[in-house]
Amino acid sequence: MKAALNADLHCHSMVSDGLLTPADVVRRAQGNGVEFLALTDHDELGGLAEAAAAAQQVGLPFVNGVEISVSWGDDQTIHIVGLGFDREHGSLVEGLAKIRSGRDSRARRIAAELDKVGIGGAYEGALKYVGNPELISRSHFARYIVELGHVKEVKNVFDCWLAKGKPGYVAHPWASMEEALGWIADAGGIAVVAHPGRYRLTRDEIKEMLSKFKELGGVGIEVLSGSHDASHIRNCARFARRYGFLASRGSDFHGPGESWVDLGRLPSLPEDLTPVWTRLR
Ligand code: AMP
Ligand code: MN
Ligand code: MN
Ligand code: MN
Repeated sequence: MKAALNADLHCHSMVSDGLLTPADVVRRAQGNGVEFLALTDHDELGGLAEAAAAAQQVGLPFVNGVEISVSWGDDQTIHIVGLGFDREHGSLVEGLAKIRSGRDSRARRIAAELDKVGIGGAYEGALKYVGNPELISRSHFARYIVELGHVKEVKNVFDCWLAKGKPGYVAHPWASMEEALGWIADAGGIAVVAHPGRYRLTRDEIKEMLSKFKELGGVGIEVLSGSHDASHIRNCARFARRYGFLASRGSDFHGPGESWVDLGRLPSLPEDLTPVWTRLR
């Protein structure tokens, strides 16, 4: 596959916290000129069969994807994208089910914290936006808080209430890095660090995280992400060179009007980097 391919290997459907059905994500990607697509719902493989079928129908090359929530260090969350795996593989399916099972009690705790700062009914409110109740996420709370009229945009809800350090944030144990990379490898896939530019880690902490990821068999990092600015792209390209990581490209599209960029609307990878899709069918 050519290096300058319009690949989009990170996006979400309503099976997790996106707004479109898996088939609509595929059709929108095709309409935007995407040439190679992975759907990467959070901790969930339930949209992949529909997306793969829709992709086959429109002739868009597609690989299975997932974005796994991983706990790191002192209450940090790192997202690991798995690509090109067998979506029926036992340990991956079971591991993800285990992570999802904690989301409901976390959501009830988030709602209790929000209640203390005057935002009532948030659990039920968030549920109205959820396609799959097991996947209740902060994005669904954000949509409810926008509905209440407190702020106009989902991202402002994170800044005021849901980001770490804000009143509606609650710590939560996700998978370990070892578990996530083990499940992906067992299922025959490859692991990529999602949006490295977004973590609140010092430079030394980022290096420590990337070294551990590499030591555990991780092969790629997202250099291009919808949430990366020019300096994130430069830094991630440097990390890719230093650690010998393959470079990935993904919009992290969640839905029209709710995302940094639309499907496939990203710059090209720096030419000297090896794209992760050289390792995918
Ligand atoms: P959760 O997995 O429940 O912690 O929710 C995380 C999701 O919230 C991410 O996948 C994003 O979709 C969304 N999110 C996190 N931070 C922000 C932000 N600052 N602005 C908009 N969406 C965000
Ligand atoms: Mn999300
Ligand atoms: Mn993410
Ligand atoms: Mn994502």
